[in-house]
Amino acid sequence: TPADIINDIRKANEAADPRVTGYLSLDYDAALAEAENADLSLPLGGIPIAIKDNINVKGQGCGCASKLLTGGYTSPYDATVIAKLRAAGAIPLGRTNMDEFAMGSTTENSATGETRNPWDIDRVPGGSSGGSGAAVGARTAVAALGSDTGGSIRQPAAFNGIVGLKPSYGRVSRYGLVAFASSLDQIGPMTRSVEDAALMLNVMAGSDIQDSTSAQIDVPDYTAGLDGDLNGLRVGVPKEFFGEGLDADVKASVDAAIAKLEELGAEIVEVSLPHTEYAVATYYIIATAEASANLARFDGVRYGNRAEDPADLLQLYTRTRELGFGEEVKRRILLGTYVLSSGYYDAYYLQAQKARTLFRRDFEAAFEKVDVIVGPTSPGPAFEAGSLTADPLQMYLADIYTISANLAGIPAMSQPCGFVEREAGKPLPVGLQLMAKPFDEQTLLKVGAAYE
Ligand code: GLN
Repeated sequence: TPADIINDIRKANEAADPRVTGYLSLDYDAALAEAENADLSLPLGGIPIAIKDNINVKGQGCGCASKLLTGGYTSPYDATVIAKLRAAGAIPLGRTNMDEFAMGSTTENSATGETRNPWDIDRVPGGSSGGSGAAVGARTAVAALGSDTGGSIRQPAAFNGIVGLKPSYGRVSRYGLVAFASSLDQIGPMTRSVEDAALMLNVMAGSDIQDSTSAQIDVPDYTAGLDGDLNGLRVGVPKEFFGEGLDADVKASVDAAIAKLEELGAEIVEVSLPHTEYAVATYYIIATAEASANLARFDGVRYGNRAEDPADLLQLYTRTRELGFGEEVKRRILLGTYVLSSGYYDAYYLQAQKARTLFRRDFEAAFEKVDVIVGPTSPGPAFEAGSLTADPLQMYLADIYTISANLAGIPAMSQPCGFVEREAGKPLPVGLQLMAKPFDEQTLLKVGAAYE
């Protein structure tokens, strides 16, 4: 029964090291009360789902792992994805840890909790949806929601040995997701299997009057066609994803996965995504520019825990933001404000927007030849905790394989494809990334299910 599942999660949580359970908060009693009325005939009837701390759930906090919001804000409404999940019988259970405002790749930028990797406590769970990744990986959640602006669903999925799907831009409503970079953000499922991801996407996808960027495109049944037949399917391997910087053991795992797809009947085709080397620079201009605008609302008046005893209005704003935002968030607001400022706008922001078109064209050309593109999700396995905190640029560079999908708006998924061993007896999961044409999540899921 749903109550049994919730009680099992409670037991798993109580038994596990609190650093790997992934949660910032959990209200079992509220979930158990909801479970009593669960309609088991619904697609997700009675299934508890862990929610990243940047998605609004009515009556709960939505702190974005930030001191600026945590404790001071209670959601007056459900995000559209939450409303849809509820209508399908699911029960939101718990808030998962993340990098503050979804900025980061390790969950170490969280100001409200510490999360480590369930496979190796000395390593990070990835980020920014690291709490959701760890919870599903540690089996302290059945499934979770994450958000992905530049890889934040797929990279933690890879690091924790689970499935993470970033839908096409516009496939899932962003209403009720605290915006980081509005033209890149998507909410997606983080699950134990490809089929679970399909089940969740069935419920989550679709147009929404509250989000004008959501697409009015029919939602197919994503669980149909998970039949394992890959005959005649063309799988592209982009040479730029296998160059310098890719860990040799990760490469071996991904190569083996590609060989298996071939065995399953797929035709392997080399493709080129020639602008890949510019992806990181382009992303960190566009994402920070949009973030600097989106985060303007956290001023202690409209949103945010207000600083005490300001001398005047200006100090109310500045002290609220100085005390509330962490270092990485401030760095990005500064960077974003800079690239948007007059005199620099043309050189940086406008240039990045033009570059963005080139990524879209790279994918369009590649998808004329193939149905799906595969490669590594991340250049290496989970980072050691603390190893990147002093070097944000190094952290940004590790996003190389995930961000082009966001820039182009295409769907992409990470799923487990083996392990590497850095220390005897401590296997670290490796992620295989699959990308498809806009709104062709079905092919991603089909290939993923066949591989799995
Ligand atoms: N790691 C990337 C960043 O720090 C991606 C974040 C995300 O997808 N939310 O911006």
